[in-house]
Amino acid sequence: MSFDLNKLTRPNIQKLVAYSSARDEFSGEAKVFLDANENSLGSPLTKWYNRYPDPHQRAIKQQLSTVKGIGAEHIFLGNGSDECIDLLFRSFCEPGKDNVIICPPTYGMYEVSANINDVTIKKAPLLDDFQLDLVHIENLIDTNTKLIWLCSPNNPTGNSLNRTDIEMVLNNFNGIVVIDEAYINFARQKSFIQELTDYPNLVVLQTLSKAWGMAGLRLGMAFASASIIEILDKVKPPYNINQATQDLVLKALEEIGQVNDMIKILVDMREALVEVFSSMPTVEKVYPSDANFLLVKIKEARKIYEFLLTKGIVLRDRSNVQLCENCLRITVGTEKENTLLIDAMQDWYNTKQSV
Ligand SMILES: *Cc1c(COP(=O)(O)O)cnc(C)c1O
Repeated sequence: MSFDLNKLTRPNIQKLVAYSSARDEFSGEAKVFLDANENSLGSPLTKWYNRYPDPHQRAIKQQLSTVKGIGAEHIFLGNGSDECIDLLFRSFCEPGKDNVIICPPTYGMYEVSANINDVTIKKAPLLDDFQLDLVHIENLIDTNTKLIWLCSPNNPTGNSLNRTDIEMVLNNFNGIVVIDEAYINFARQKSFIQELTDYPNLVVLQTLSKAWGMAGLRLGMAFASASIIEILDKVKPPYNINQATQDLVLKALEEIGQVNDMIKILVDMREALVEVFSSMPTVEKVYPSDANFLLVKIKEARKIYEFLLTKGIVLRDRSNVQLCENCLRITVGTEKENTLLIDAMQDWYNTKQSV
């Protein structure tokens, strides 16, 4: 098998000349910036925010490169992983012609983004144990299949995909394999980031929205070969990561110890919640989780979901999703939130028994 990035890239993107911003055309030290039509007087905030941000996010990439143990040329930053997902479609999939493979039940944005970009979705549903159906995937691949989307740990099922299965796909597919590792910090498995040198067709997605606790700042990361990163850089809007996010993220990346402490607490609480949910009378199954949420199969899932809403507690109802029938997805909360949830579920059982 041979991987040819040029053949995979859309012809218009291959030919594309990236927008050259005012700050791209000048690099060096200057005192007077009259090149970008900013407000030279400042802003109602601090002086800093009247200037356009670094379109290449050099400072963050340099620090991420240390945190992740990978060269900055292998890092792309998006306005959330959701932007990375969209850019992968726009760079590699010809609308109305190409197709991609997803393995449901999985993260909803792959399909939405495919639909926005007029790219055909082919589905190879996970097996009953929520692992990949390799035979089905292989049968779906044709000459127009550009991307295979794998999510590990998977949302909403919570499990990690078997590493050997992922390797099988990487070794046998000439297109790009995207592994979405949004929940990797909570997993027992290790990231595929370190395998980039072995696989020119690999893109790993991570995010600061989950374990790092910064969903509000919108910072997603794609890790891949330098040539794939170059393509994404060319296609992205020049100033996709705003200055406030760049400032705050730079500061937060120094606090990796604090983040690791939170991860440990969340994983411990997840395991405690497994015990509690398993002991509830109508819970049929608590699926093993490598993430900061649990998928729980429960009788009358929809009714409990609605009862909890009346108590001001919102879960994710997945009971209509194929393979997740009667399942609720429950994020691990704070100690107090978890207790509120457990008490409310207890209330539900009590009301039912008294009727
Ligand atoms: C939450 C989540 C993301 C995060 O998206 P952002 O745009 O970075 O907030 C990506 N993939 C999966 C599977 C998720 O569950």
